[in-house]
Amino acid sequence: MARALFISDLHLAGERPATSERFFRFLQDEAAGAAALYILGDLFEYWIGDDELSAADGDPLARHVATGLRQLADGSCAVHLMHGNRDFLMAAAFCGASGAALLDDPVVVEVAGEPTLLMHGDTLCTDDLDYQAWRRTARSQAWQRGFLGQPLAARRETIMQLRERSKSVISAKPADIMDVTPQAVAAAFRRHGVKRLIHGHTHRPAHHALEVDGVRRERWVLPDWYGPGGYLVIDASGARLVRY
Ligand code: MN
Repeated sequence: MARALFISDLHLAGERPATSERFFRFLQDEAAGAAALYILGDLFEYWIGDDELSAADGDPLARHVATGLRQLADGSCAVHLMHGNRDFLMAAAFCGASGAALLDDPVVVEVAGEPTLLMHGDTLCTDDLDYQAWRRTARSQAWQRGFLGQPLAARRETIMQLRERSKSVISAKPADIMDVTPQAVAAAFRRHGVKRLIHGHTHRPAHHALEVDGVRRERWVLPDWYGPGGYLVIDASGARLVRY
């Protein structure tokens, strides 16, 4: 059976070259032999617009990542990409350059014969009311139009300020608030009628077995790459988390 790989929360950024190197090695080794790669959000630490790829002052890392994914997609591995809360402005130009197909969040895909719910995971963190309010703003057309209307340098400046603010907000929050709620997880299983959910975002890699409405289900949480990183693989022998 064909092998499918799942990654998320790489948070690629010029300031962490070791993570980018590990990611490029992953593309050439593990991913090149897989039938499908699913990137479930936060591939980049932040994404300020697809013109990053073409502008003279664009980040070279953005182009390198697009090229790396393109090589994979031009081979025999189908590349699927979901937005995270950091890189939700990735759009048609990035998909065109990388050969990646953009996935909705949430989406149900069949993996090894099992309908599987894929999400980034931030929408499951329903106790984090500040974040959910910010998410509504950032996903609005008005905010996005205003933001993308600024020159790249000004957008970069705005993001640096948002990151500084979010660091202090996050360090003041109880950790539980930034995890998924059992109610949101149960509601997602119920709404989509699936037995398997895969998501990232919380940086709490795990395999949870649970029961919803008397049916056994499983929830896989992907590792972030701030640490050593890793991925979920699903093939004929089942599903397992691989940690570097
Ligand atoms: Mn995230």
